[in-house]
Amino acid sequence: MNSLRHKEIQYVKGIGPKRAELLTKQLEIRTAYDLLHHFPTSYVDRTTIYRIRDIASEEAAIQLYGKFVGFSIAGEGAKTRLVGVFTDGTGSIEVVWFNAIKHIRQTIHEGEEYIIFGKPSLYGSRWSMSHPEIDTAQKAFEDQGMRGVYPLTETLRNRYITSRNIHEWVCTLLDSQQFFKETLPPMVMERYKLMPLDTAIREVHRPTSQASLQLARERLKFEELFMIQVDMLMRSRRRKGESQGFRFTRVGNFFNRFYNECLPFPLTDAQKRVVKEIRADVNTGHQMNRLVQGDVGSGKTLVALMALLLAIDNGYQTCLMAPTEILATQHFETISQMVAPIGINVKLLTGSTRAKARKEIHEQLADGSLHILIGTHAVLEDPVKFANLGLAVIDEQHRFGVAQRARLWAKNTTPPHVLVMTATPIPRTLAMTVYGDLDVSVIDQLPPGRKPVTTLLRYDEQRQQVLHGIGQQLREGRQAYIVYPLIDENDKLELRSLTEGYEDICETFRSYRVAFVHGRQKPAEKDHQMQLFASGQAQILVATTVIEVGVNVPNATTMVIENAERFGLSQLHQLRGRVGRGADRSFCILMSKRKLAKETRERLELMTQTTDGFVIAEADMKMRGPGDIEGTMQSGIPFELHIANLASDGPIIQIARTAAEELLNLDPLLCRPENMAFASALRQSIKRSADWSKIS
Ligand code: ADP
Ligand code: MG
Repeated sequence: MNSLRHKEIQYVKGIGPKRAELLTKQLEIRTAYDLLHHFPTSYVDRTTIYRIRDIASEEAAIQLYGKFVGFSIAGEGAKTRLVGVFTDGTGSIEVVWFNAIKHIRQTIHEGEEYIIFGKPSLYGSRWSMSHPEIDTAQKAFEDQGMRGVYPLTETLRNRYITSRNIHEWVCTLLDSQQFFKETLPPMVMERYKLMPLDTAIREVHRPTSQASLQLARERLKFEELFMIQVDMLMRSRRRKGESQGFRFTRVGNFFNRFYNECLPFPLTDAQKRVVKEIRADVNTGHQMNRLVQGDVGSGKTLVALMALLLAIDNGYQTCLMAPTEILATQHFETISQMVAPIGINVKLLTGSTRAKARKEIHEQLADGSLHILIGTHAVLEDPVKFANLGLAVIDEQHRFGVAQRARLWAKNTTPPHVLVMTATPIPRTLAMTVYGDLDVSVIDQLPPGRKPVTTLLRYDEQRQQVLHGIGQQLREGRQAYIVYPLIDENDKLELRSLTEGYEDICETFRSYRVAFVHGRQKPAEKDHQMQLFASGQAQILVATTVIEVGVNVPNATTMVIENAERFGLSQLHQLRGRVGRGADRSFCILMSKRKLAKETRERLELMTQTTDGFVIAEADMKMRGPGDIEGTMQSGIPFELHIANLASDGPIIQIARTAAEELLNLDPLLCRPENMAFASALRQSIKRSADWSKIS
């Protein structure tokens, strides 16, 4: 299989240089290896032909056998489409093409028999199918059994490259290759009874039965996930084995005095446990790389602060980074206030820090008198030189890339300990993959006395009632958020509806002050507006999702989310986390239009039923695939997945993790002869991601 990584696809029969270029551009298929790993997303079952009369659902793609009895052009300009009427004697459906019309008119003829394959959809009371795959009946009957349907892009379709073409090229490759040598270690193959690579790669493209297709897919998924796990484990073992880390051996004055004199409330058991885990981890002589996961409001800041104090007690400097200026400022205020009694020197460094203050920070960093530097990405800038950085905390990790983490490591000759904090609850198996090289601590408990936020779903026509409710809260001295979905900060229309919303609110609540925050404002203006709200001078904050992470205003008890149907579950959860931070009862009102797609309604209803971040994260992944999570997290794994799915393949991830541990316990460096093929495949797969290799 490895040799196929060097065989360019242009030399595969039927492809040639032009199509090869297109395939590379559109699907990143460069080599024969890539083509064989471009897996079908569904299958045509040549043995089953549907009758039009029996079509009952839009769910699955189906195959019909019949003829076209007429074509017509409908629409104009960009909306021009070709409509064919297809009948099989039991009924008729419309077949629609939006492009490649000329090509279809030339190649598809009335009265001839065809097999068409596609997803039926219902318009009014009539079934239709757009851009089906079409074969002459003759050709279709020559094929037996199931055949893969391959993902394509619009551009490829317009250039007349079909799923069927891809299938043929794959078959050419399969037929020209006698045997695909096994890559997985024999020990793993045996223990987990996996289908051999040769069988699996043939079955996945040309299944002989549903059962063997299933086994083939499982094996190929396993292989991808197993590679990731082995890579992650090797990397973290190497780091633990090789990299020196500072030893924080003692708990000193700062930590103890803070704990005994300054703690505003007792730590929760979960916070205590995590602090303990961190303490153990910074005393091993190796660098700590730990992720602290905790739902919004679980009190991560305090845990981070305790870790910072531990480092300072041992003679080191520390830093805390946040993704936005607002958050950094907020951390700075909370922390400097909390540690004021014990004489800790804390400074804030952001993009808007003045030159003079900046100079002072640089000096104090250099002479060692600055204990804690809090800031944004500015902290990563080169002129920032610590005398002795011992611990770096990164808040809200998902906005910090892996590469940035690496820059941190370079801030001292011995890499500082790194603590990453995230409020994005992700399912355990996903964490295992994405953060597989980090050790994970979980704060799985909220501080006592929190009342769960009451979440209500309201429709646009109930707005008056909602406004009335807000008014009531305001009269009781509480504050309220009103959030608008501004997905694209550059979209004029969306910006207008936001501004109108703001003006409406000002009008409705004339006796109150309304702050206004969105992503297009200058940082100073944004800060000013936020500050108005945080200090209580403004009672209402109209905002976009810029407030999503971290903002802490315990007196705010109501949040209205406009067009809630446009947000994803995890995002709604993050937003909702801004209320319910004090001891008072809080409300989150999801405003939406009444007519909703089934899935959207389910999403919103789930929000009204639970406040558990993990339940929501699981549901989010199930409902729309890992989506956002995967988007940002894909950057956390060493290569792109072709067949495995981080959201739905949890059980396989679990097995892959165990198998990876077993393998590395026996052959930690993968140098036994029987594991060479695997080691080589692993190296080749990972080589593709250049960014990543710099870090390991
Ligand atoms: P997050 O985990 O979302 O970053 P924060 O650290 O901002 O949460 O904490 C949320 C709120 O809970 C803050 O107001 C903080 O002071 C408070 N808090 C943290 N720990 C405790 C505790 N053990 N008991 C009571 N309140 C706490
Ligand atoms: Mg936080």
